[in-house]
This record gives sequence, structure tokens and C-alpha cells, in this order.
Amino acid sequence: MTKLRVGVVGAGMIGRDHVRRLTSVVAGAEVVAVADVDESAAAQVADACGATVRPGDRLIEDPDVDAVLVCSWGGTHEEYVLAAIAAGKPVFCEKPLAPTPEACLRIVEAEVARGHRLVQVGYMRRYDPAYRALRRELDSGSIGAPLMMHCAHRNAGVPGFYRAEDMIADTAVHEIDMVRWMFRTEVVAVRVLRPRASGNAGDLPDPMLLILELAGGVLVDVEISVNVRYGYDIRGEILGENGTAALGESGLVAVRRDGRLASPVAGDWRERFGAAYDAELRSWVTGLREGAAADGPSAWDGYAAATVSAAAQSSLRTGERVLISEIAKPALYDGSTST
Ligand code: NAP
Repeated sequence: MTKLRVGVVGAGMIGRDHVRRLTSVVAGAEVVAVADVDESAAAQVADACGATVRPGDRLIEDPDVDAVLVCSWGGTHEEYVLAAIAAGKPVFCEKPLAPTPEACLRIVEAEVARGHRLVQVGYMRRYDPAYRALRRELDSGSIGAPLMMHCAHRNAGVPGFYRAEDMIADTAVHEIDMVRWMFRTEVVAVRVLRPRASGNAGDLPDPMLLILELAGGVLVDVEISVNVRYGYDIRGEILGENGTAALGESGLVAVRRDGRLASPVAGDWRERFGAAYDAELRSWVTGLREGAAADGPSAWDGYAAATVSAAAQSSLRTGERVLISEIAKPALYDGSTST
């Protein structure tokens, strides 16, 4: 098959990174059009890869665009994803699918009405080699039935515009999606606890602890710390009935010297999850070129993560445990947490 012709909406940080990926890492795709409200940003990206600049809505309608990659801000995703579904075009949408469960539900309903899956959401941890190895270990039964999972998501720092809610909606949402996928089940309740705030945190309630209760009784705690200074550190350990399984240290080199053992810590999410971003787009492009059934994180997964995220934000405000209520999962998404 000829190359998949991709139109990219949003030429910011991750948009540029995905364009680089599609043009120089992933085989079988080319970027043919770029849109951004900042036309000069779009032009800069388009010039570098021989694409044209279009307004977002025109890009989606363009017959030369086979598939759409949405990398603009979360609040703009719904409009573009719905337009892609209406045009019958596959669309990869960066997380979050949309900022609210209601907006995500409108996307789910549009896709269900269309009758087949077109949407993939950028929850790339499902493609990370370490998380995949952890899930295989869990599935093998080697540690017995899972009881708890301990997670930590630590950022060296965050930009000035980052708000308290972003610690859940932008940051913890990756763990929320990951645990649904890891344990193949839904989150049924959430509570957010706040210890003493870090002196590095400014006005943020940093760190915070999310307690996720899964259907079936597994409990997951997630530490979110976004001003740890020392690096970007992602941790996960599952306690089973007969043992534990944990993500290994991500630094590949361990140096023993002068009575000390030292290993690098990733600087940021691009470094830690670079291979996962490559793999998710490779899988998307290859699947579309080969006509394979969609199996990446779905619009349903985007809706479910948004529902838990909204409940956690409510708990952050009230300090209460919040029960999660979701609509019944449409048959279109059966098996969608299996990637
Ligand atoms: P960013 O650097 O601000 O880029 C977003 C770009 O979209 C900006 O150039 C912005 O222009 C443009 N834009 C805003 N409204 C638009 C519209 N209506 N139509 C077209 N373009 C529009 O943000 P980012 O960090 O790349 O994040 C983009 C998305 O990716 C977010 O949803 C974020 O959560 C997600 N993301 C995911 C990951 C991950 O780990 N999967 C990592 C990073 C980001 P202006 O600057 O002029 O507004």
C-alpha cells in the first residue's frame, strides 16, 4: 500500500514530536497537511516536512488526508475528533480525548452511530516495554492474584500555567488509564488525600495521593509529585498473593564507584516514554495500512479515564470518596482494553 497520508492538527510540543516520528521513525506514513491556530507554527512544521498548511476543519475534509492526528489543546479535541468521525476518517487524538466525561460521551456516541472504530487515544503507556512486561508477568499468574498496586508519578517540575486539577487531569490520568488496562477492569471509586505540601510546590497541593478502588477489590495508590527536582520518575509495583512484580529502574547503566552505586534517572517524559510514543504511532500506522481491526486505546477508554479523572477532581475539592458511574459499555468496544 502507498503511504498513509496524515493531517496533523496542533503544531505545539507533542505535535512537532509526532511529526518528527511520522517522518523519520515510523515507516509507511507521510505528513501532508498541518493546522494550528498559530499559522506561523503550522508553517514552520509544514515547511520542514513538505506538507501544506490548512485550517483544522479543511484539513479533515481534504481528500488528500487519509487519517488525522489531533495534538491541539484538550478543549479543542472534541470538535476535531467529531469532524473526523463525520468524515469517516481514522483519528489519533492525544490525551485527554476531551476534558469532560460528557464531551467524551458525545464522541463515543458518534463513533457507535458510525458503526466502527475510528478513534485511538494517545495513552502511550500501554505501549511501553516495561509496563507490557509487567502486565505479562501479572497475566502469567507467577505472583498469584493481585491485591494492590503502588504507583508513583514524579515530575522534576511543571510549567507556571499548571493548576491543581492538572495534577489529575493531565498527570494522574496516565495511571488511571494504565490501571484499567493492567487489570482489565474498571475503577469504581476514588479518593484523593493530601499530605503536607512540598516547599517546592508554590500554590499546588503537591504531592497528592489517589486511592483507586477497582471492581473486584484491587486497591491502587498513586503518588503524584510534580516538583521533585531530581528527575522524571515513574514507579509501579503490584502485590500479588504469592509475590510482587515491579517496573524495573529505567536507567540502563549502573555505576559502582567510590563506595556508591549510581544510575541515571530520566529527565522528562519524552526520555522515559520515547519508545512507547514510537510504538503507539507505529501500531496506529501499520494497523491502518494493513486494514487490521483497531485495538489501541479507544474512545471508550478516553471516556472511562475522563470519568475517573472528573471524580478524582471532585474528591480533591471535597476530600470525600467518590463513586464512579459510567454508562454501559457499548458492544463496539468489547475487548478494547486488551492491547
Ligand atoms: P502545546 O505545546 O501548547 O501545543 C498545542 C498547539 O495547539 C499550540 O500550538 C496551540 O496554539 C494549538 N492550538 C490551540 N487551539 C487550537 C485549535 N483550536 N486548532 C488548532 N490548533 C490549536 O501543547 P502540547 O504540550 O503539545 O499538548 C497538546 C496535547 O497533547 C494536550 O492535549 C496534551 O495533554 C497532550 N500531550 C500528551 C502527552 C502524552 O504523554 N501522551 C504529552 C504531552 C502532551 P497556541 O499556542 O497559539 O494556543
